[in-house]
Amino acid sequence: MTTLETLLAARDLLRDATPLHTDCGLLCSAACCKDDPDDPAGMLLFPEEASLYARQGAWMELVPSRLLFGGAPVPLLLCRLPCPRPMRPLACRLFPLTPFVKGDRLTVRMDIRAQPLCPLYSSGLSGLAPDFVSAAKAALRLLWQDETHREYLRLLTEHLKEYDFLGL
Ligand code: SF4
Ligand code: SF4
Repeated sequence: MTTLETLLAARDLLRDATPLHTDCGLLCSAACCKDDPDDPAGMLLFPEEASLYARQGAWMELVPSRLLFGGAPVPLLLCRLPCPRPMRPLACRLFPLTPFVKGDRLTVRMDIRAQPLCPLYSSGLSGLAPDFVSAAKAALRLLWQDETHREYLRLLTEHLKEYDFLGL
């Protein structure tokens, strides 16, 4: 599989799985999708994911992030509600989980960036729907087989460590 095919397969594994079997957005008024014009957060796109957003129109824009991968900025997707759900990026499909590389092993854990906003954060993985966690693990295992995604997952892990360092 190519890097893009691997990405598409990973996205597909998380097409329908959601953190809870009910709509978790009702717990927090969809806090992770709230648009704050003063502090746009955005989602970092995985390798080659930007190619899926070349002509997506007014619900989103791509801007360069400060994170560099292969010498180029990782694209950040800024969205305006509502997004077309089938087009949500992999980072949204995984949230509030994130990949995290430990040594030579890929793990999945709660995303430190979810801590200030997601009511599911404190319960950890055991508070999430098991099929969602399984789908996330399967998607990440797929990415881990691709060299480009592996390198990106390592970079993303280093990026997440900076949030740990900030004590979030
Ligand atoms: S912040 Fe957490 S609980 Fe709220 S919609 Fe996002 S994933 Fe669900
Ligand atoms: S792209 Fe969709 S799922 Fe992702 S943050 Fe924006 S509105 Fe939420």
